[in-house]
Amino acid sequence: MNLLVDGGIVVSDKVIFDGAVAVEGNRIVAVGDSSELRKRFQGFERINARGCAVIPGLVNTHTHAAMTIFRGYAEDLPLFDWLNKRIWPAESTLTPKDIEVGAQLAAYESLLFGATTLNSMYFYSEDGSELHAFEKAGIRATVGHGFFEKTVESGLKITEEMARKWHGRDNGRLRVSVCPHAPYSTGPVSYKMAFELQKKLNSLYGERGKIILHTHVAESREEASVVKEAFNVDVSGGVVVYLSRLGVLSRDLVMAHTIHLTEEDVRVMKAFDVKPSLNPVSNLKLGMGVADIIKLIKDGLTVSLGTDGPASNNTLDMFETMKIVTLLVKGLHGDPTLLPSREAFKLATEYGAKALGYDDLGAIRPGYLADIVLLDLKVPHARPVHDIFAHLIYSARASDVRTVIVNGKIVVEDRKIVGVDMESFLEEVERVKESLVSRIRVS
Ligand SMILES: [Zn+2]
Repeated sequence: MNLLVDGGIVVSDKVIFDGAVAVEGNRIVAVGDSSELRKRFQGFERINARGCAVIPGLVNTHTHAAMTIFRGYAEDLPLFDWLNKRIWPAESTLTPKDIEVGAQLAAYESLLFGATTLNSMYFYSEDGSELHAFEKAGIRATVGHGFFEKTVESGLKITEEMARKWHGRDNGRLRVSVCPHAPYSTGPVSYKMAFELQKKLNSLYGERGKIILHTHVAESREEASVVKEAFNVDVSGGVVVYLSRLGVLSRDLVMAHTIHLTEEDVRVMKAFDVKPSLNPVSNLKLGMGVADIIKLIKDGLTVSLGTDGPASNNTLDMFETMKIVTLLVKGLHGDPTLLPSREAFKLATEYGAKALGYDDLGAIRPGYLADIVLLDLKVPHARPVHDIFAHLIYSARASDVRTVIVNGKIVVEDRKIVGVDMESFLEEVERVKESLVSRIRVS
């Protein structure tokens, strides 16, 4: 289908008032003034963007989408208690159906909040998974099967199967990643095996899109000592330095969190062009600390943003994440000139897309993939419009999202997911929760 989004404030490389975006198939073919594009693209289905900002879809570079099902389930606990006492025992009772419904809920929440791409790590099964959910929901996603030291063999096998079956599906909308969980839960040999698999999968299926490695790194203060104790390895220099000694770093590696880094860690991340994904809301909620985002940006790293799983956030709201990360930077450094809105917006769009291995996503540009969000500006908190980027970071609300296009298809219209009876779906979510809770009680 060919679309002409016209009459809005188009946030492209420049801001175009009364601008338009033409979409052919799954790509943007032209960006410009409404009057000109209306003449050039007659016959395209028109989407009226009057009174809206037209922005690239937001890219969430770290989450565990299916964990919506645990939203509010494990609260006010330190990370290792949160994982060991609440999350991991509960996860052991999950069925593929639970995971699929949880991920579907996450996809709907994300799309309604203007996030069109998710990078998610969870558990895959042929009988139901995040991929099954995302295929239905119409969101763009990179999905990996998280594995640990005890599950590395099956994890690698499952990942290979996922890649064969799903990587590049639906016109490139779905991609697969390799996901060793974290250096404290997954040993050195397993990381090397994961890296080898990544290379193999890229040589087999790379023409359908990059296969990235996605892992957690340096989330807690104790991480280096926990890694050392668990695997009897040399962590001198820092956890990233340890991973670099294993030879697993590359530009196609997304590291979630990267809070507790040494100078040497940052240096090797820069040398390999590793992509840090910062998750400020989850990090604050679990008391993990705050990543030194300005240092990472100034050192030239491609920094992007994630929400982390909805059990530790507890939303998938990337607007909130953009605002909080910006406030943290300014507040902690006592310097309001740091991280201007225009730059902060890039973390959640263009840089996020780069982190996931795309060079044609995350901006409204001719030739780019058509992931486009229309944000309502006909609301009191958006007016007057002096500075559209300041609005996007500080005063826009995720619930202002009116229309969403992913890969050239309209998936949200008038604040509703197209073709979904939300009321009955939310009832299904409650049934899944009830059944899950009764199984957790028994186990
Ligand atoms: Zn995580």
